[in-house]
Amino acid sequence: MQKSHGRVLIIGGSMAGLFAGIALRNCGWDVAIYERASEELAGRGAGIATHDELYTVLRQAGVTLRDEMGVRSLGRLLLAADGAVVGQITMPQIMTSWGLMYRFLRAQLPDDCYHNGYTLSDLVQRANTVTAVFEDGRRAEGDWLIGADGTRSTVRQRVAPEIPVNYCGYFGWRGLVAEALVPPAVLETIAYRMALCLAPGGHWLGYLVAGPNDDLTPGERWYNWGWYRTADAARLQDHLTAADGTHYAQGIPHHLIRPELVTALRAEAAAQLAPQIQAIIAVTERPFIQGMLDLGSSRLVYDRVCVIGDAAFTARPHIGLGVSKAAEDAMSLAAALSAPAQAATLVEWEQVRLRYGHAVLDFSRDLGSYIGPAPVTAEQHAKAAYHQRPDIFMAATAPSDPYRWLKL
Ligand SMILES: Cc1cc2nc3c(=O)[nH]c(=O)nc-3n(C[C@H](O)[C@H](O)[C@H](O)COP(=O)(O)OP(=O)(O)OC[C@H]3O[C@@H](n4cnc5c(N)ncnc54)[C@H](O)[C@@H]3O)c2cc1C
Repeated sequence: MQKSHGRVLIIGGSMAGLFAGIALRNCGWDVAIYERASEELAGRGAGIATHDELYTVLRQAGVTLRDEMGVRSLGRLLLAADGAVVGQITMPQIMTSWGLMYRFLRAQLPDDCYHNGYTLSDLVQRANTVTAVFEDGRRAEGDWLIGADGTRSTVRQRVAPEIPVNYCGYFGWRGLVAEALVPPAVLETIAYRMALCLAPGGHWLGYLVAGPNDDLTPGERWYNWGWYRTADAARLQDHLTAADGTHYAQGIPHHLIRPELVTALRAEAAAQLAPQIQAIIAVTERPFIQGMLDLGSSRLVYDRVCVIGDAAFTARPHIGLGVSKAAEDAMSLAAALSAPAQAATLVEWEQVRLRYGHAVLDFSRDLGSYIGPAPVTAEQHAKAAYHQRPDIFMAATAPSDPYRWLKL
């Protein structure tokens, strides 16, 4: 039996935490994942565009992939507001769902290393150990602690409280609707391509993903869509406020979104989006809202604490790279922690991942440069115009070849 390198505590049991758990166990570490949610996370259904790099990293970590990891998309299709198809490109890509990826990764780990219902509140570092302190007073000790706890990371707030989480000046209306509810004539046009539409103040996009229980059978899948809408902080606050006046700053539950906002969304869609898209929004019973946030780090290693995934860098979703980045952060960190020259390798890991994180963040900001606050300088105007060019918009949104676009 392989001798353990030691014990790693991982805070956050979503994408980055699961990737880290799988990779570290493969390298011979004893792993304990602590997740705030008290039940399985699989309820989140939204779509995830993927790239070959993600599957390469998973194979390198010894993971056997499913025959089908999602719905195969052939490329992109651009719709004008009158419904005409005004652009089309080929870009083969697998569109998976958050739930399918979560369940697939979770199944790679034994239950005894995954602990639900643990909310980190503090951490204490000593020379050779680190202690996680949870809200209910429970504690856990390890040789290393990894913050994989997302955009509003408690770990990052403890080690680098100065890093701001930025509101980008826009939010996304998002929807997940049963494929069977989408009118067949609409589905015929858009089924096997990511559909895109440019509208004033933000674009719309949609694609098919696995349905309930990760079903990929035609007719049983979900159609996933998002519409980015410029909104100042006051407008976002209004959208995150329920009918009883309660404000849900970190995200409003679907069922509490005020009905008049959904009515207004449908009316705006009727005025600005292609009729095919209006039909999809019309059959989406419960659209939901996500404020768009981004952040970047200047360090990833703080003595015995490392930060990865969205906790380290949250890029805007237009780049569609968050899951692959989380996987690469995690797999390369596991290799660095396991290397004979651990200290030097960790320094190198931090430099490489910081460079990558900043490149991803910068490109995601470029992709969102025409959404949110209006451009002011000539350079900003030029950037916004460039990224709305139909050829660039179709090729650069959640691309299958992200490395082509990143300034590394
Ligand atoms: C609209 C939208 C569309 C996107 N589309 C794509 C796409 O097409 N392709 C793609 O690759 N990526 C996409 N992303 C990004 C992707 O979803 C994220 O980058 C990825 O999920 C990050 O994973 P993570 O594990 O780092 O963070 P998260 O998924 O946020 O997980 C953090 C986990 O930590 C837990 N946690 C938080 N605080 C604590 C605490 N104190 N104690 C214990 N646990 C805690 C949380 O409950 C959560 O489970 C999209 C994101 C958005 C918002």
